[in-house]
Amino acid sequence: MKAKILFLVLMLSCISNITAANAKLSSDERVLINYIDKHKKNQLKLLENLVNINSGTGNRPGVEKVGELVRTELDDLGFKTQWVNLPASMRHAGSLVARHSGPGKKILIIGHLDTVFPRNSPFQSFTLSSDQLSATGPGVIDDKGGVVTILYTLNALNHAGKLKHANITVVLTGDEEQAEKPTSISRNALKEAAQGSDIALGFEFSLAENQLVTRRRGLSEWYLSSSGKPGHSSTIFQTASGDGAIYETARVLNSFRTTLSNIPGLTLNPSIILGGQTVNEDTQQNTGSASGQKTIIAAQTLVHGDLRFLSDKQKCMAEQKMHEIMETSLPLTSSQLIFNNIMPAMLEKNENRQLLAELSDISVTLGGSSLQAVQTTERGGADISYIAQYAAASLDGLGPWGRGTHSQNETLEVKSLPEVTKRAAIFISRHLD
Ligand SMILES: [Zn+2]
Repeated sequence: MKAKILFLVLMLSCISNITAANAKLSSDERVLINYIDKHKKNQLKLLENLVNINSGTGNRPGVEKVGELVRTELDDLGFKTQWVNLPASMRHAGSLVARHSGPGKKILIIGHLDTVFPRNSPFQSFTLSSDQLSATGPGVIDDKGGVVTILYTLNALNHAGKLKHANITVVLTGDEEQAEKPTSISRNALKEAAQGSDIALGFEFSLAENQLVTRRRGLSEWYLSSSGKPGHSSTIFQTASGDGAIYETARVLNSFRTTLSNIPGLTLNPSIILGGQTVNEDTQQNTGSASGQKTIIAAQTLVHGDLRFLSDKQKCMAEQKMHEIMETSLPLTSSQLIFNNIMPAMLEKNENRQLLAELSDISVTLGGSSLQAVQTTERGGADISYIAQYAAASLDGLGPWGRGTHSQNETLEVKSLPEVTKRAAIFISRHLD
């Protein structure tokens, strides 16, 4: 009996907590919430439709089809929409840019239309679990879940009459998963849209209900090529033959590992290695070939790797150390390093932390958990990294949560979709003026 009374008291205190939390919402904010609750089935249905269209990065017609579906929704909301295509020499789809002009704060919203699953992937369709708690499908959280979060956030704001004076630009890129190089060209539309933004919000997925992204590491790639003097293998290490290209590369890589593997926030990963008499890497196809004989000292090697860093300063330090290591070659060998910038780091700023704190308050008010900044080592780069420097404050990971991205287990936790949509709608409604 006592236990029952205690349970009742606990229940009542829970109910009064939720009521107290909801009381913190304005009547306009309750309109947003009701709209999102009422339309959550439509939101999930739209997600299903988008997921069932293959839009692997290389499948340009598929990416554009997804974009066209989203475009009509944005047109209906009064946005001016246009495709900003890449130059003809580039094969990927461009970016869908939608603008709603108004006197309000300049808000930039980012998502992407492509997925990592190519046209011939066995993973092609949306499947709702029998208990309806989860859904799997290519892009179901990365990033079509983010795209429908954006659309229903805007739908709710429109329904509540909040869009009238809004100054919102939405950029949905067509090749986030494998940005066409050079990124200085393929990210132009995004950069132009971002100039002078007060707030930039990325709707990439989240890995847990209490996580958001306030910073991301930057990314570059490097090519290490070494050469040696070909000769009979029996003469290796002799003065006339030297040590060969493969030992030289092994020396350099081992030194990278011993010198640079313990610096917080920095990682460098050799991903592909080729060595022999001739080497050739096909970077478009992610393949390579090498030829040689075991009786001949290797003449060439090629290593292709990436470098991730917290700041430009850290990137420069790493590149300088890598150069120094490279220069002290083994006998009769030499090495060369080439770096390509891919993505700058999204630096953590107090302003980003402030946005996180505000969203966390909203989440708690809605009965959810408080939100934390995710560790940079747990996430890669994303489109927001290219433009965070142009916005006064930025935040990413506002999409729904789930697991298994980039794998055939990509899964959405269905209840997260209306939840993150409510968070975003309330947050944006508080920043429109
Ligand atoms: Zn993504």
